[in-house]
Amino acid sequence: MGYLEGFGVTLRKWGEGVTTKEYRAGKAKKGEAPAETDQKRPKPPRAHGRHVLNKYEDGMEKCIGCELCAGVCPAKCIYVRGAENPPEEPKSPGERFGFVYEINYLRCIHCDLCVEACPTEAITETKLFEFSFTNRDDAIYTKDELLVGEDGKPQNLPWEDWRPGEDQFTSGWMRATAPAGRADYENRVAWSGELGYGVRAPEAGQEHEDPAPVEAADDHDDHGGHH
Ligand code: SF4
Ligand code: SF4
Repeated sequence: MGYLEGFGVTLRKWGEGVTTKEYRAGKAKKGEAPAETDQKRPKPPRAHGRHVLNKYEDGMEKCIGCELCAGVCPAKCIYVRGAENPPEEPKSPGERFGFVYEINYLRCIHCDLCVEACPTEAITETKLFEFSFTNRDDAIYTKDELLVGEDGKPQNLPWEDWRPGEDQFTSGWMRATAPAGRADYENRVAWSGELGYGVRAPEAGQEHEDPAPVEAADDHDDHGGHH
């Protein structure tokens, strides 16, 4: 294609209008409605974003400092140090708790192996993947930043771009294997209670589009309490 032909294409396209949409328009703070120009699509419930450290309904931390998540992480971006729980003021219901907990988001590939490895549903992922850092310290999330707030929801850190609803599906409830694969597990609760939400109702299986909440299964009678 010669120069003139190329310019001809440009001129022809000039008047056709814009077909792409502005992704970043209408940025809203957490809890606020996005502007009408916001073109971001809702994320699927199981999207993998930045992590949270969860708490039980009574506010105890779920992490027991076992370091399994750090051991399984292929990117070696989790740093955990467990410590004995102080008897007078235990942080977790186990003998130990996560004394130090850090995730380096300059390395994390959001594979969720840490989430799968965790025996207590302590570490799970939110839907948030849009966050930008201006220094290395911000990219390394500390335990204080990863722990859910008093409402059981992820904290909104200054460099994170949360949209309404994105903080809703962050728990072990979403981590749990869907019952659709095994009929035996349909409509059975297989996760512990959590701060701010209690015990989540079971997910719908293949045959149940809108199941009513059911009691925890007999062999899981500690749901709502601690592991
Ligand atoms: S999601 Fe994967 S890469 Fe990221 S911290 Fe967990 S195990 Fe490591
Ligand atoms: S987050 Fe889970 S796997 Fe990691 S140290 Fe805590 S309890 Fe163990």
